[in-house]
Amino acid sequence: MLALRWHGREDVRLDDVQAPQLTPLLDALIEVELCGLCGTDLAEYRHGPGMIRMSPHPLSGQQPPITLGHELVGTLVEGSSPDGTITPGMRVTVDACLRCGTCAACVRGDYHRCRYGGSIGLHSDGGFARHVAVPGACLVAVPDSVTDRQAALTEPFAVGLHALERGGLRTGDTIAVLGFGPIGAATALVAQALGAAPVVVELDPLRLAAAQRLGLTVVEGGEDVHRRVRAAVGGGGADVVVESTGAAAVVPQAIECAARGGRIVLAGLPSRASEIDGRRLTLFERSLVGSLGYRHDCPRILALVDAGRLDPSAIVTDVVPLGEAVELIQRLAGGPGTTIKALVAIGDTP
Ligand SMILES: [Zn+2]
Ligand SMILES: [Zn+2]
Repeated sequence: MLALRWHGREDVRLDDVQAPQLTPLLDALIEVELCGLCGTDLAEYRHGPGMIRMSPHPLSGQQPPITLGHELVGTLVEGSSPDGTITPGMRVTVDACLRCGTCAACVRGDYHRCRYGGSIGLHSDGGFARHVAVPGACLVAVPDSVTDRQAALTEPFAVGLHALERGGLRTGDTIAVLGFGPIGAATALVAQALGAAPVVVELDPLRLAAAQRLGLTVVEGGEDVHRRVRAAVGGGGADVVVESTGAAAVVPQAIECAARGGRIVLAGLPSRASEIDGRRLTLFERSLVGSLGYRHDCPRILALVDAGRLDPSAIVTDVVPLGEAVELIQRLAGGPGTTIKALVAIGDTP
């Protein structure tokens, strides 16, 4: 089968590989229909290895070249979920967290903090191929009412939901989302689905326009952005600020966008160290927290879609066949242009 594999920085290839073998860890086989391209995949292409390790992963034993792709939807062909409720023939997506299941974090249910953790599509072969082997524990059933395009976006939207939870989102809170890439867009739309009215901050005019088209309130990023955010949300700043740009210079700005007692969530992985004035936290009793992936959030996203409260496919701008995935990555590595979220159609690939 054809697989989009990461060989090294600026080196991804469409390789002809063997179909995956099931292992004690990767004990479920999925036939993939669609797989989303994540900012992480692009980061690994441009600057990697970042999250990818060059030695065998302690859980999967795999190392590069590795098939990318962790935002997938398809049909379960073999294996089942541990509780036996998800069985072959069912449409599934995955919670991409590899986990040991026995460390202190895993036992608490915080499997996204597993000390041996990793991700499908970075630390085990992923979904940019017709077949992918995943842990049965990672399977998530897709309701019939949810389309493939919506289901393929479950994972990035779960990242947005988790970020809002890390921000302690409460009813009536004001929210500012910095950045309107895939994660910022997902966070803003989830906040909207939960009944909030998020303000989106973005520098890029094309992305600002895209956010506006989705009915979101937008504010232009850049210098003195906190003044514009305060004006937009009132109350001296937002109760919850989600930073999704990953730009180190934006972290201090994100702090200034928060109200007294506000919570600032770093959902983007900062590109380098940021200089933070601790007084700007203490004197306003603001909290600054990190947010990593998600935990138990994928079924909750699918429930919101099933209920008609959320349409993740609204952010899809590009769908290309697997044969064009290398060119897609090369193009997006040079800048997003009009792309918010790109999906790769695997369905017709041999
Ligand atoms: Zn991702
Ligand atoms: Zn663990």
